Amino acid sequence: MREELYPFSTHYRRVFDEARLRPEQIRTVSDLARLPFTTKQDLLRAQSSPENRYDFVLRPSPDLIRAHWPFARKLALVLGGARARELVRFQYTPNFLTFTTGRSSEPVGFAYTPFDLEVLRQAIARMFDIAALDPARDRIVNLFPFAPHLAFWAVTLGGFETGALVVPSGGGKVMGTDGSLRLFERLSPTVVVGTPGFTYHLLRRGNELGIRFANVRTVILGAEKVPPGLKEKMLECLKVGGAGDVRILGTYGFTEARMAWAECPTPDNHSTGYHLHPDFSVFEVIDPKTGEVLPEGQDGELVYTGIVGHGTSVLRYRTGDLVVGGITWKPCPACGRTLPRIGNELRRVSEQHSLSLTKIKGTLVDLSVMGSVLASMHDVEEWQVVLSKANDDPLELDQLEVRIAPRHGVDGRELAERVSRDLVNATEVAPNKVTLRSLHELLEELGMESAMKEKRFVDRRPKS
Ligand SMILES: [Zn+2]
Repeated sequence: MREELYPFSTHYRRVFDEARLRPEQIRTVSDLARLPFTTKQDLLRAQSSPENRYDFVLRPSPDLIRAHWPFARKLALVLGGARARELVRFQYTPNFLTFTTGRSSEPVGFAYTPFDLEVLRQAIARMFDIAALDPARDRIVNLFPFAPHLAFWAVTLGGFETGALVVPSGGGKVMGTDGSLRLFERLSPTVVVGTPGFTYHLLRRGNELGIRFANVRTVILGAEKVPPGLKEKMLECLKVGGAGDVRILGTYGFTEARMAWAECPTPDNHSTGYHLHPDFSVFEVIDPKTGEVLPEGQDGELVYTGIVGHGTSVLRYRTGDLVVGGITWKPCPACGRTLPRIGNELRRVSEQHSLSLTKIKGTLVDLSVMGSVLASMHDVEEWQVVLSKANDDPLELDQLEVRIAPRHGVDGRELAERVSRDLVNATEVAPNKVTLRSLHELLEELGMESAMKEKRFVDRRPKS
């Protein structure tokens, strides 16, 4: 912090100075509580004005180095000549960007330097290890959309680092589902990596086409949380395709961290949490209302601090993810690793949407809970939630429509009633209507083959 973040980050130099703190006063994790949080709004604000655009990017200059580095390090830089200058370039000059994929706000770019790409490669190599992949033998299909997003590149770089065979299909929009399945015929993969929604769709389509999944032994899901019932539905499809015992693992990662963390395999596919790398980053769990840091094992919002990165660097970043059970330092009961682990039950703070379903006041609805209920229902093949206004009139009440494609052979009307009932039980909000669709129609509406990310929640309410 003393030689990197404070001297080279315009934003954090300001934060430390305003808090009247010297970087050397932050020595342990508990010292972090003396600093304010960084929020998504801070990042958006910096990005939106040309003079602040690089406030979160570490940018050394000869003057800053002169003023802040210790004498020995400056001397090494002077005596090291071209090689030392090359090292500074490797460490600090961005050569790559990924972007956030928020539904509600502008994408925020995160810069990587060659050094940061090395860190990402390491982090994903460790993730492969935690997922018990064998780089010498496994054949991995990467279904993440080909895009400037963390997930695709993390898996790609993980393959480069470990030497494992990783073949990208680019997801539904690039090779398409059937194209990706042809890859399965050629490669007979042992590992499938992708988003929960697209991976399930692909496995189901594979069953329709009679594709063999006989060699698949691990499925790794990312970019979105994995509803518990969806793992079961995937296992069913895999079994139909001839697969034996398959481990389905979730991962947790986000653009702002520029890395991700994985669950380890367990015999019954229950989660023991995401295994962290404490030498790369630090997590705190806070009370989202008061900002107070909570003790080990308590529910709260995850706050992220990177401790090795350059490029775009954040400190005490509020992730907006609420974790049930917080973080534990107990050895993992499944793999025995002593890494700290984040509980696998995560919710987005920001996915609480205010709906005016009555004339009196807005009702808070957690769309992620709604999605989890729908995706987990065995008889629901696909689903979509659409918010609109009655008669498209901005002054009218909000309308909540749930579209479902029932599983083959399931009575649609009975299922629609069950969907309505289950949603009321889980969210206390009843949809205005549950509409039945054929699987084909709903896949079109979701944009499964045409959009970068399927459209699970559509907000059609006119912006007032
Ligand atoms: Zn483990």
